[in-house]
Amino acid sequence: MKHYFPKYCEKFKCIANLCPDSCCKDWDVVVDDTSFDFYNTAKGEFGDKLRSLMTIDEDGDRIFIKQGEKCPFWNSDMLCDIYINLGENHLCHTCKEFPRITQDYTAFCEHTLSFACPEAARLMLESDFDTNFATHIPLDSSADYSTTEMNFLLSARKRTLEILSDNKMPLPERLCRLLAFNDRVQNMLDDEIFDISSMPSDEYEKQNCGDMSFVFDLHKTLDIMSKEWLCELETTAEFAKTNTLSNRFDKQLTAYLDYYVRRYYLSAIDSMNVISTIKRMVCAYIVTAYELERLENPTQPEIVKILQRYSKEVEHSYENGELLEDEFIFNPLFSTDNLISIL
Ligand code: SF4
Repeated sequence: MKHYFPKYCEKFKCIANLCPDSCCKDWDVVVDDTSFDFYNTAKGEFGDKLRSLMTIDEDGDRIFIKQGEKCPFWNSDMLCDIYINLGENHLCHTCKEFPRITQDYTAFCEHTLSFACPEAARLMLESDFDTNFATHIPLDSSADYSTTEMNFLLSARKRTLEILSDNKMPLPERLCRLLAFNDRVQNMLDDEIFDISSMPSDEYEKQNCGDMSFVFDLHKTLDIMSKEWLCELETTAEFAKTNTLSNRFDKQLTAYLDYYVRRYYLSAIDSMNVISTIKRMVCAYIVTAYELERLENPTQPEIVKILQRYSKEVEHSYENGELLEDEFIFNPLFSTDNLISIL
């Protein structure tokens, strides 16, 4: 099986106690069975501590009991006590893997990093468009899905990335084209027309200029971890009512949206839904672009923080994903035409 690694994957190294927003806070850490079995054999005081700090949550997952909002093994030096006492090999699967993401499509495998990790976000923002991703699979590949459908999706994703990276156009225009193009791709998927030779056009018509406050309203209903971000969201929503966006951050926002395409587009091989990925991108763009616009002259770490925090708050919750998906499908405010009208 062929593996595709963007260069930033190779460069990534956890910065541990130098991390400005550690993955050891806010999230629950799920303890996998192999780690659980090992932790049950751990001796001494540390073994006893490990066993006393695990519980089963309401979803039936075994997790560490957080202290405040932090993992109980994240010590006062901002280092991991499991790593120190048992070694890196005995971190549980979640901690060993994060922020690495492996997307296994049977016939090929793509790798990326999560934008919710500040160091990964920094690397991804600094890297140019990376072309190391699948563009087609041979028709005789064995996979548990139709290779014709996958080749169609790979071609549509390639065109999606071309439109996104065309920096001759302002970013909002590229997003309008992405919505128009992928709305037509979605129609082809719905009609089961997997014809690579007739990729649809990205032309669009903008009927009027709409009000975008519904995008902020939706975010306020999500499962949000930090009160600080909720306040930020409310202030940004007010700011967006009376201000327009410049193109000062188009480069960074383009890199951020590129991550969404890589991470979510091919999930349509199961869901048969590509347009939700583009709608997620539009939502992420509107919220983060206005957050950035509020800052007069932000440093690169401040830019990273805004984009990383959006990912940490919005992306890493199954419930948030479901809620967004429902709105995209059933709420007419999130129709393709209406989203084009607010860009
Ligand atoms: S968020 Fe990333 S850099 Fe920070 S502690 Fe976790 S893996 Fe390391």
